[in-house]
Amino acid sequence: MNADDLPTLREELEAHDLWANKGLGQHFLLDLNITRRIAKTAGDIAGKPVIEIGPGPGGLTRALLEAGADPLVVVEKDARFIPLLEPLIAWSGGRLRIAQGDALNVDEAALVYGQARELAGETPAIHVVSNLPYNVGTPLLVKWLKAGPWRGDMTLMFQKEVAQRIVAKPGSDAYGRLAVLAQARCACRLEFTVPPRAFTPPPKIASAIVRLTDRDDPYPHLDALERVTAAAFGQRRKMLRAALRALTPEAETLLAAADITPTARAEEIDQAGFRRLADAWRARS
Ligand code: SAM
Repeated sequence: MNADDLPTLREELEAHDLWANKGLGQHFLLDLNITRRIAKTAGDIAGKPVIEIGPGPGGLTRALLEAGADPLVVVEKDARFIPLLEPLIAWSGGRLRIAQGDALNVDEAALVYGQARELAGETPAIHVVSNLPYNVGTPLLVKWLKAGPWRGDMTLMFQKEVAQRIVAKPGSDAYGRLAVLAQARCACRLEFTVPPRAFTPPPKIASAIVRLTDRDDPYPHLDALERVTAAAFGQRRKMLRAALRALTPEAETLLAAADITPTARAEEIDQAGFRRLADAWRARS
């Protein structure tokens, strides 16, 4: 199957009289060369379950179906796009399923498998591939980082600045909560950037694709990590003994238990240090 045989995305948008709603972060990729590159970055998805958030007119959806995703479940908040996506169900031989709703509230495993099979652990992990809406990209990522065993690798497009924050290393300005949370669960790699002109309408800033694959030693207590990183990076220029007072009056005791110098600053603490700090916080609370 070849998506070049379909009407172009631009023709489809015109035929359905559709325009971008900026409130929903709609910036479309109408060039199949780019969406195919994103699908390729996801690796071998042929015959494997994939979920895509925010298909919009379906440029990435077409590329994922071409690459053999089975099933591909898409979740779109904007009902205007559903009639435009529906012909892809027959085109893909029934591999596509369309759900209308807010991705922040959906149960991905239930959409793809139904809850019972996922809970029984009988099902392959679901690859998440998406050109994410800017306004909900970070909360969606955090939701998936915390998700159960249904969630497999993730290939996600963010604003470039957010992508840089996800892959950032200690000591850099971009290093913060998002890097610590994402890297607690996943190996994170910035794959390539996409300039604003690639989108319709063009956003103000560039975007980038990040590939996230599960670590062999994921840190299980993400809620504790969220608490300590919120306090530590909440006042990132302060020494930790002061910044962590937002969390507890016994900040120095906590730091000692985690074997961290009280005069250190949050951006100097690596993944292992934050794990120890979250463990110490859990032990005290
Ligand atoms: N995937 C398309 C592409 O690459 O051309 C569209 C990407 S556009 C950046 C983001 C899409 O996410 C839009 O179609 C928008 O309507 C949808 N969207 C925004 N918020 C959403 C939400 N909370 N849940 C599901 N879809 C959402």
